Amino acid sequence: MKPPPFDYLAADCVEAAVQALAGAGGDGKLIAGGQSLMPMLNFRLLRPSILIDINRIPDLAYIRDDGNEICIGPLARHRMLETSDVIARQFPVLHEAMGYVAHLAIRNRGTIGGSLSHADPAAELPMMSLLLDACLVVQSLSGRRTITARDFFLGALTTALEEGDMLVEVRLPKLPKGTGWAFEEVARRSGDFALASVAVIIGSDGDRISDLRIGMMGIGETPMRALDAERILTGQRYSEATVTAAVEAIRAAVEPNTDLHASAEYRRHLVGVLAQQALARAWARLREATQ
Ligand SMILES: Cc1cc2nc3c(=O)[nH]c(=O)nc-3n(C[C@H](O)[C@H](O)[C@H](O)COP(=O)(O)OP(=O)(O)OC[C@H]3O[C@@H](n4cnc5c(N)ncnc54)[C@H](O)[C@@H]3O)c2cc1C
Repeated sequence: MKPPPFDYLAADCVEAAVQALAGAGGDGKLIAGGQSLMPMLNFRLLRPSILIDINRIPDLAYIRDDGNEICIGPLARHRMLETSDVIARQFPVLHEAMGYVAHLAIRNRGTIGGSLSHADPAAELPMMSLLLDACLVVQSLSGRRTITARDFFLGALTTALEEGDMLVEVRLPKLPKGTGWAFEEVARRSGDFALASVAVIIGSDGDRISDLRIGMMGIGETPMRALDAERILTGQRYSEATVTAAVEAIRAAVEPNTDLHASAEYRRHLVGVLAQQALARAWARLREATQ
């Protein structure tokens, strides 16, 4: 399959990219790694009049420790996140999840900016941005603004980005030392998009659960936080009974789709199993780190 014809511009700075986007009046597309955009062009699902290539803009591929947060440039490739010492140290849950993103060849090209902007409901980075309370910095001709991950994902392949917006930075607030974490995923084959995934970060206040966040994906139109389950567990001692109640709340809250790969019932069952495993592993890691 070949893409429809388009004009091409290699932008040399962010300002030139957003200027060109605005000039295209909603008919232009940024291209970063091209790993999602090119298949969509080849299948003629998109027909932009111009592709604005941001790969030659210098200094957009970085991971920087900024004190209270880690700042990531939009052109940081998946492989850069996967192999970064800063990410492994600050966000081991993100480090682990990156190994599940597609295949190595795709991870070498795909970018964090592209993955978040594309917003596939079964992609790891959107869920991680929600779990880690990311702030996404967006630039347009009108200037810069920040959108929280919670407000960013509106539907499958739909975000709060507006016409003429470019995602220019992702900011992740650091987690307290000793936070427990876990990432669990099931896909039909290694490198496939997930049927479902669950990620957990957890703290403790004495022997009680605190600062719990549960992220899920593959079970709806966007990544989700399991807010009911978080409420059930927070302030409680970790026990089989409370975890079972939380898992039931998760299964009740999700509305997965049936597709070629799995039925809605299977996905609902699976997300509960993964949540149970992730909670147990995260709690065990927390106890290990704090004893
Ligand atoms: C076979 C295959 C398997 C895959 N499996 C997985 C998987 O298991 N998990 C997973 O998470 N992903 C998977 N992917 C997707 C992959 O991670 C992509 O790299 C990613 O979704 C898009 O990143 P990109 O840099 O390639 O973006 P591109 O394809 O270049 O762009 C994607 C979209 O984002 C827009 N965009 C890009 N950068 C910006 C920006 N800075 N600001 C605003 N808009 C921007 C583009 O205009 C386009 O609409 C898979 C892809 C393939 C081909």
